[in-house]
Amino acid sequence: MIGVRNRFRDSSTAQLLTEAECWLWDLTELDVDLEAAPESWAYPDQTRAFALAAIEDLNAELARRDGLRSRSTAPQWPSSWIDRRPDAAAIKQSVDLITYIERTCGVVFERRGREVICLCPLPGHDERTPSFSVHPEKQVWYCHGCHRGGDLFTFAMHVMGTDHFADVLQALTDEVVGDRDLALEGVSLG
Ligand SMILES: [Zn+2]
Repeated sequence: MIGVRNRFRDSSTAQLLTEAECWLWDLTELDVDLEAAPESWAYPDQTRAFALAAIEDLNAELARRDGLRSRSTAPQWPSSWIDRRPDAAAIKQSVDLITYIERTCGVVFERRGREVICLCPLPGHDERTPSFSVHPEKQVWYCHGCHRGGDLFTFAMHVMGTDHFADVLQALTDEVVGDRDLALEGVSLG
């Protein structure tokens, strides 16, 4: 089948797996709802049939790609069901600001009340007394010396030296997904 005629052409294999997983959850929740209240779905049979047809389509495409995996030009198969599309909210939840700053800049924080402080690690600010503070609960930072502040993404933009939010989001996504794959599989997706 040539790409343009395949409606799954623009979806990564990870996305297809995720989509199939979502349909399976829909089916599962449908059954749970019906057990609790038989009238909770107006057309349960049609809904179930629609979900099963969608899963069948996805499985057919996955089987087709599976058959091509050994070809030298075939892209790498995802090692787990992870959606690799950048999601800013999910990244913010899974990346702790303090841990990120410590790891990328090698600074040491000390606690001051509700905040933690350290020597400002930002480019262009070389200081002797700590004026860079992070609020762990709010996951925000501010430097009382160079008067810059923000969240995880603004910090990463300063450190990576870019004004492009999308670049930073993609870099952090790759990092988070890479870490999780390492933890789950013991191998890197590369
Ligand atoms: Zn500063």
